[in-house]
Amino acid sequence: QAKALGAANTTHYDPAKELSTRERNQERRHMAKGLHNNEFRLYYQPQVNLKTHQVIGVEALIRWQHPERGLLPPIEFLPLIEGSELEFHLGEWVIEAALKQLVTWQADGISLPISVNISPQHLLHPGFMSQLKALLAAYPAVLPHLLSLEILESATLDDMQTALEVLKECRQLHIDVALDDFGTGYSSLAYFRQLPVQLIKVDRDFVRDMLESKDDRAIVESIVFMARKFSRPVLAEGVETMAHAQALVELGCFLAQGYGIARPMPADQFPGWLANWQAEHR
Ligand code: C2E
Ligand code: MG
Ligand code: MG
Ligand code: MG
Repeated sequence: QAKALGAANTTHYDPAKELSTRERNQERRHMAKGLHNNEFRLYYQPQVNLKTHQVIGVEALIRWQHPERGLLPPIEFLPLIEGSELEFHLGEWVIEAALKQLVTWQADGISLPISVNISPQHLLHPGFMSQLKALLAAYPAVLPHLLSLEILESATLDDMQTALEVLKECRQLHIDVALDDFGTGYSSLAYFRQLPVQLIKVDRDFVRDMLESKDDRAIVESIVFMARKFSRPVLAEGVETMAHAQALVELGCFLAQGYGIARPMPADQFPGWLANWQAEHR
């Protein structure tokens, strides 16, 4: 399994690779139609501080409510549009949906940041910054610091110079950037230092196995140590059990998200979940 530090994450099932060009184009047309018909949804997964029990934000995760195939996870459709203009447009839909959600929650008295996942190709697209600025301008009621972006290490390595410029511009807009799935790409300390990122997310594969595997525990520990040295907060994803949470707290990693805390949920379930969580941890 390619999950060691420095190994590319290439073992994941990739439906796009099994399709012919014709089938792929057909699938893309279905997706474009799905976008037009408003079939995509954002689910939200809470992020919490394990020590204070404060809810620090939510991650937006896309789903496709397919008319025939049901609710599809991103692995079923995102690989098909990698690097295409449709990816750029779906990415725009995601950011806009998150901004609309922020407006709704703000009206309900909920003021928590939403982080959206941005694909490497979307981040490095020449139109990305103007798209982002136009969206922010269209939702002036939203405080920009309530929107944050999650990007993969690989995005910054593909074109370091462009990535750096984009991330710096995001900083100027007060948009936080998190480095997602940290530890699965070709991370290099020297260049990590240059990246203006405000949060490190430990990949869920390391967290999942950290109780059984000494190596994975050592990787999590090293990432937490490094994040602290660079004064960056660190969040563990894939926290499935209390035992995971406890082990993370012992290592000094207090920010977490995972099924053990809450599964990704539709937006309308979140206020109820939040009220429950706050009542339980008062
Ligand atoms: P990610 O950003 O690393 O998101 C975390 C994934 O782990 C999500 O899968 C989430 O549902 C899952 N997860 C959370 N807690 C647990 C846990 O305790 N155990 C396990 N086994 N899994 C957990 P999901 O929603 O299927 O998303 C997969 C990936 O698809 C995401 O990984 C992200 O890279 C990508 N993605 C999701 N939504 C979007 C989007 O709107 N745009 C883009 N470009 N990519 C997205
Ligand atoms: Mg993410
Ligand atoms: Mg992740
Ligand atoms: Mg991941």
